[in-house]
Amino acid sequence: MLLKILLGFLCGVVALAAENDTAQQGPPALLLVSFDGFRADYLKRFPMPNLKLLYTQGVLVEQLTNVFITKTFPNHYSLVTGLYAESHGILASNMYDPVSHKHFHINNDTDPMWWNKAQPLWVTALDSGYKTGAVMWPGSDVIISNRTATHFMSYNPAVTFQQRLRNVTNWMLGDGKEPGVKFAALYWEEPDRSGHLFGPDNTTAMGEVLKEVDDNIGLLISELKETGLWGRTNILITSDHGMAQCSAERLIRLDGCLHPDNYTLIDLSPVTALIPNKDPEAVFTLLNECHPHMTAYLKKAIPDRLHYRNNEWIQPIILIADEGWTIVQRGNKLPRLGDHGYDNSLSSMHPFLVAAGPSFRQGYRISRLESVDVYPLMCHLLSVNPRPNNGTLTQARCMLAAETCWDVPLMIGLVVGVLLMLSIITVLFRALSQRRASGPRPFQRLQVDDDDDDDPLLE
Ligand code: AMP
Ligand code: ZN
Ligand code: ZN
Repeated sequence: MLLKILLGFLCGVVALAAENDTAQQGPPALLLVSFDGFRADYLKRFPMPNLKLLYTQGVLVEQLTNVFITKTFPNHYSLVTGLYAESHGILASNMYDPVSHKHFHINNDTDPMWWNKAQPLWVTALDSGYKTGAVMWPGSDVIISNRTATHFMSYNPAVTFQQRLRNVTNWMLGDGKEPGVKFAALYWEEPDRSGHLFGPDNTTAMGEVLKEVDDNIGLLISELKETGLWGRTNILITSDHGMAQCSAERLIRLDGCLHPDNYTLIDLSPVTALIPNKDPEAVFTLLNECHPHMTAYLKKAIPDRLHYRNNEWIQPIILIADEGWTIVQRGNKLPRLGDHGYDNSLSSMHPFLVAAGPSFRQGYRISRLESVDVYPLMCHLLSVNPRPNNGTLTQARCMLAAETCWDVPLMIGLVVGVLLMLSIITVLFRALSQRRASGPRPFQRLQVDDDDDDDPLLE
């Protein structure tokens, strides 16, 4: 009897310890990697065997609809907050605050004022008791909500991809006593740098840089395998925007329309932000008629679909160039052969998303997702309470192994198919029975009429 009680007690203790262990382990770690300026169709145009390996074992989102303006800083902050630029406040590479008279530039970006309208996941996840890490992701070296990620690396383009990756895997592994990082974000400058330099249509140059990018993905896979993180880490590989081909024939010169004394320039191309120095309506009228490939908007008239109006750092007038057009103040010099920042409804501006790991379906594809939906997906994967955001889990849910999702086109196809079969069977059946009714009846003559009115022959 005593032995039984002792055994029961021991079993209870072991079960409790195991339960605690899983609670401490929690969900799999999540690694978010961004390759800057990776236009969605590069995946179709260039061989990327390592990336393909990942998405054949996971999920490919062919196009991610990113946020306006389609620049690096706004979109990287949207990925980790789930907010449109007007809500998170990182609106452009150059900004100006008319109250404090402060200027923001991507090389002078560490004033928390600009970032504090939102909270990135590497901060929010700390409240769930997790450690987090961020390597050179825009905003990662800024103190936001009075905190940074547990580990971060300040921006230094000289640090190789391998060095950045080593840091991340070391943080994820932990020191043996303390648990490792649960969420890490890693940033790499290519293929954006080469896209600007050579233009996305330069197949030779882009082919070379995309081979390097794919080699880096190969490094990532082998590093995760060597460290034992592979198979127990969810991986998201994505980007912030695409790239459009520019040319010297497609220059829009502001000086041709109005003298620079009329306005203060805050940001230039392909979305120009400016403050009129004189009569705003007169400045707007001149800019509105300036060029057929540039649209001018007074702040209040910026279309709703761009989600780019309700913020004090959006200037009174913005100008948006058409795809591939470049706005300059003066001269004939094309600053870049490739550029981005254009309207986010253009497919050339869209990046992609690849997801792989224990929580994801295998060999699954979806054609589109909003980039603001990546944040609720990541919160779900980490069991972190999402902060208010512009995204939804509705579409992204289908990427998860634990979810059953109806493939709508397949379902429609099946229903139409079944209805078609039923109709064919009905028509055939009717035709057959009609033929039977109207065809020759071999024993007709033998049929005796059952006529009640027949009188007996003899009465
Ligand atoms: P853009 O192409 O104008 O959107 O800016 C992208 C460039 O910003 C990249 O080529 C990087 O060199 C640079 N960049 C990326 N992250 C940072 C950062 N955290 N701090 C400063 N510059 C950065
Ligand atoms: Zn970028
Ligand atoms: Zn760029």
